[in-house]
Amino acid sequence: MVVGGGPGGVLLTYLLARGGARVTLLESRHDFARRFRGDTLAPGVLEYLDTLGLARPLLDEVPHTRSDAFRWHTATRTWTLVDYRGASRRFPFYALIPQAEFLPWLADRARAHGATVLMGSRFSALRHDAAGRVCGVEYTVDADRHELDAALVVGADGRNSKVRAASGIAATELGASLDILWHAFPRRADDPSYSGLDLFGTPTGSVALLDQGDDWQLGWTIRAGSLADVRRRGVGALRDAAVGVLPWLAGRLDDLGDVSDLTLLPVRITTVERWTSPGLVLLGDAAHVVSPVGGNGINLAIADAADLANRLVGPLRRTPPDPAQLDDAAAGLEVARRPAVEREQQAQVRTERAAAARIDAGDPGPPPVLRSLARVPGFPRLAGRRNRVDVPAPVPVIAAGTP
Ligand SMILES: Cc1cc2nc3c(=O)[nH]c(=O)nc-3n(C[C@H](O)[C@H](O)[C@H](O)COP(=O)(O)OP(=O)(O)OC[C@H]3O[C@@H](n4cnc5c(N)ncnc54)[C@H](O)[C@@H]3O)c2cc1C
Repeated sequence: MVVGGGPGGVLLTYLLARGGARVTLLESRHDFARRFRGDTLAPGVLEYLDTLGLARPLLDEVPHTRSDAFRWHTATRTWTLVDYRGASRRFPFYALIPQAEFLPWLADRARAHGATVLMGSRFSALRHDAAGRVCGVEYTVDADRHELDAALVVGADGRNSKVRAASGIAATELGASLDILWHAFPRRADDPSYSGLDLFGTPTGSVALLDQGDDWQLGWTIRAGSLADVRRRGVGALRDAAVGVLPWLAGRLDDLGDVSDLTLLPVRITTVERWTSPGLVLLGDAAHVVSPVGGNGINLAIADAADLANRLVGPLRRTPPDPAQLDDAAAGLEVARRPAVEREQQAQVRTERAAAARIDAGDPGPPPVLRSLARVPGFPRLAGRRNRVDVPAPVPVIAAGTP
């Protein structure tokens, strides 16, 4: 049983069902509509989806944009900090696919493979057997309480995971230095074009611009916890900062009446003491919240799901499943994935600190270390290859299924 229909939970459900295991997904919301989430599928993730026969139909059927570089701009200069053109032969780009489109597309395929997807079903408590092992969940649909047995509960319910809280697993904040305020507005035919993943430095922060096809997504990075100050200065200061670096935005943000019209992403970088307890495993944001630096929250959740599905599908196909085998599979996920996730988190803490120091110094350019590296020939391509996100190939019983 999987709790949480984000990218990690929906992909895991799909993979287990495709591999012939019985699986139920609980999602608290009634639909997958959501905005301003991690929408950036990395080259390595696209390659993985291709091995499943999913990448081509996804890119053909779901509207998206593609970006082959991450660029930092000031009023006078542009630095290409990451170049994805060498990151994959088949998919030399990040695909920006809204979760609101990607998740229902994948959930339909999971249902077609026999998965049970329970929307509007909110996990509320864990159930334990006499030995203390997790053996199911309680959940609510509207005000009605339900119970479900489970050989294993997967907590894929995001950064504020109720499954994690119910299991008593402690989480520790590693210290994010920035928050983001998001806003979307329609694109016009004569708007300039960019790489699709761009950051514009201003003396007081920076403005991210993501190309979402019909819309632009604009994000102001602010010092972590400084929303009250930003409110005091007013939305006009944010508008001026954006127009200062993107003059074509003049007049385009006038509908922004107040800072509360923007969507706050309180950035967090969180680690948990362990990803498992008997009968239970956490993945994705429930196990490790990452910052948007690198755009990999969605990709790490997908890599977790792929790895866990490979380990679980065999034991789950047995009737009844052997609890010891399931717990071994869950433990294997943490051993395999935790080091890579922690390396990414440490790099994010360093990058965010450097970016915050830059804001304090009123410097619109990239942090000095990135500025120097961007000048090293071949560095942006190397950074692109390092940020491609490798995903373990599906085991034969999953690979052999139809897409
Ligand atoms: C508000 C918000 C904004 C974000 N913005 C960005 C961004 O701008 N850029 C970026 O790179 N990343 C962003 N992220 C992070 C990115 O979306 C995640 O890293 C990625 O989606 C992780 O996937 P996941 O499957 O682990 O969890 P999630 O995508 O968080 O999915 C968890 C799912 O669990 C469901 N759920 C929660 N509680 C329960 C419950 N009790 N019972 C049943 N279901 C439950 C939720 O409805 C959700 O569908 C954002 C995350 C959030 C929460």
